Amino acid sequence: MSTSRVAVVTGAARGIGAATARRLAKDGNAVAILDLDEAACVEVAEAIAAEGGRAIGVGCDVASAEQVEAAVARVASELGAPTILVNNAGIIRDNLLFKMTEGDWDSVMAVHLKGAFLMTKACQAHMTAEKYGRIVNLSSSSAQGNRGQANYSAAKAGLQGFTKTLAIELGKFGVTANAVAPGFIQTDMTAATAERIGMEFDKFIEYSASQIPVQRVGQPEDIAATISFLCSEEAGFVSGQVIYVAGGPLD
Ligand code: NAP
Repeated sequence: MSTSRVAVVTGAARGIGAATARRLAKDGNAVAILDLDEAACVEVAEAIAAEGGRAIGVGCDVASAEQVEAAVARVASELGAPTILVNNAGIIRDNLLFKMTEGDWDSVMAVHLKGAFLMTKACQAHMTAEKYGRIVNLSSSSAQGNRGQANYSAAKAGLQGFTKTLAIELGKFGVTANAVAPGFIQTDMTAATAERIGMEFDKFIEYSASQIPVQRVGQPEDIAATISFLCSEEAGFVSGQVIYVAGGPLD
């Protein structure tokens, strides 16, 4: 039986974040669903409540220091000190380097890197006070390089360095930090990639599955299950790791 904690999941209105929020609630945690659109967050929170879990929806742009401060303060007062944080919010602004704009670069860095920095800074104050914490950052197989994703792959590689540094600095407070790096997961994000390269999503899934050793693409629940373990009490000796969840070997 695991102890009930307060978890914050960013970008949790859909996709991997929503699946992770549902899973962490099923594990017995109270969960704060953070995303840009508060109404969409509340829908996920209500679905969790309907299954007997405890959740709230909080509108928050993770790239805004002010909004992050306010959101984390609200979580602490409504649910209690957040000691589990999943930095999942993400966007893609793909293009080949010569066509990539400064805005494409800046917005990807703002959500993935600055967003994770701001959220972690706000939550670590609660974790160090409680002498307990679990931080999981969403990296990607694209951290190893991917055509059309100079901005995204740089951000996802950056999150790996960020994660390792958090593990070193926060370990003595009982806080672990790990990164989960998904391969192809079937969500709106990969649907947008299919559209960009001019392929039907079904065909893109079929082709991608044929390139993956387990011969299928991933589902949000595959990532949620891995995050669930890293957020558990018993994962306390796993820290500073990057875990590729991609249906085959990557390192
Ligand atoms: P998704 O379906 O596009 O969901 C991402 C969520 O993040 C959306 O609800 C989005 O809100 C939200 N978001 C965007 N900017 C935000 C901001 N500034 N503040 C708060 N929330 C924000 O993506 P996903 O596929 O579930 O991906 C989740 C994470 O896994 C991302 O970090 C992604 O890079 C990573 N990942 C995904 C894959 C994959 O194959 N799908 C592979 C590797 C890594 P809006 O809908 O309002 O924009």
